Amino acid sequence: MTAADDIRGRFPFLKNTVNGSRLSVYFDNAATSQKPDTVIDLADRMFRGLNANVHRAVHRLGAEVTDLYEAGREAAREFVNAVSREEIILTSGTTASINLLAYTFGERFINEGDVILLTEAEHHSNIVPWQMLALRKKARLMYLPVDERGVWRMDLLEGLMSSGRVRIVSAAHVSNVLGLVNPVGELVRTARKYGAYVHIDGAQGIVHSRVDVQALDCDFYSFSGHKVYAATGTGILYGKKGILEQLPPWMGGGDMVDTVTYGKTTYAPLPLKFEAGTQNVIGVATLAPALRFARSADTPEMEAYQRKIVEYMTEELHSVKGLRLYGDAPGKIPLFSFTVDGIHHSDIATLLDHFGFAVRSGLMCSEPLIGRFGQSGMVRASLLVYNTIEECSEFMAALRKAIRMLS
Ligand SMILES: *Cc1c(COP(=O)(O)O)cnc(C)c1O
Repeated sequence: MTAADDIRGRFPFLKNTVNGSRLSVYFDNAATSQKPDTVIDLADRMFRGLNANVHRAVHRLGAEVTDLYEAGREAAREFVNAVSREEIILTSGTTASINLLAYTFGERFINEGDVILLTEAEHHSNIVPWQMLALRKKARLMYLPVDERGVWRMDLLEGLMSSGRVRIVSAAHVSNVLGLVNPVGELVRTARKYGAYVHIDGAQGIVHSRVDVQALDCDFYSFSGHKVYAATGTGILYGKKGILEQLPPWMGGGDMVDTVTYGKTTYAPLPLKFEAGTQNVIGVATLAPALRFARSADTPEMEAYQRKIVEYMTEELHSVKGLRLYGDAPGKIPLFSFTVDGIHHSDIATLLDHFGFAVRSGLMCSEPLIGRFGQSGMVRASLLVYNTIEECSEFMAALRKAIRMLS
């Protein structure tokens, strides 16, 4: 048994069959990951016997569930190496994290004429909340361009930073369309020189690279639990304590307060100040086994195997006539977005589904970026630690067959 086989054994989803044959090869991991046995077992155990609200009751059950919930937060803290639990705000996902940040940061720090700098390769979740803020505060959005491969034009960064009043830079660690690990360290260092804050959208980055927010020195880092093996409806907004303390609360309600009178409220300290109402208790608890699994799969052997898969897929895709691969540059995660001349992306994805391969197609929540490449959609195959080189080779055969049928 190889390490990859061991890992596959941990995922009940991969054992699903229909009439004795495999259900499908799951190549849509950038949308959400499958869940390992320990995550499923914990959720099951909690639904059955450990279901209570957190931070409220004095009963023993409430205390036990609160411990499991806070263990999820602690696992997230440890995973990104944040200094304290106060820096880990629990949300429902990356989208909620960025909306929380754009609103509260905007209230405190953005004034008319200020600039918010994004890149041309962002997910809608890292564009729309900033556009809403810009409208509200009469601020301006600017975008760091990417080149023909999708690589950030770092040569243009200083010019953009010095041209105006950039208050915050918000950029993806890894694009969900291109799969390139972006030079976020250099971005942070440059932004610092100009006194700007930095937020990193880590929805993909957290899955494929080791993140140390202290070493990276970003001010904020967002990610979703569900893309890194935890339940859906869980997300994290990491923020430096000193800055989070300066931001106003976002939603008001239970658990985020210190004292409430009919006239006035004082707020709870971090992190609860940003966590109004009943949270996704069981989802958050699954972060602990999910991130423990992620660490255990992060070995040199697995890294080498993933590199082999990237090399294999890149070479194979290049050999298909009329196929254009995007994000074709060094530092790629196993995520492959492509188009084939003269064939509609959704036709390819539909046939691939028919052949037993689950891939994504369309705009992938990144309409401006896909438009920048002159396309109306792409096909995306995104892989994770449980995918194998055998699946890749079956995929390539199915893709060639689909293209033959559609040509
Ligand atoms: C998935 C994704 C998001 C949004 O995450 P949700 O879990 O849907 O909130 C944002 N940015 C990137 C890069 C993503 O891949």
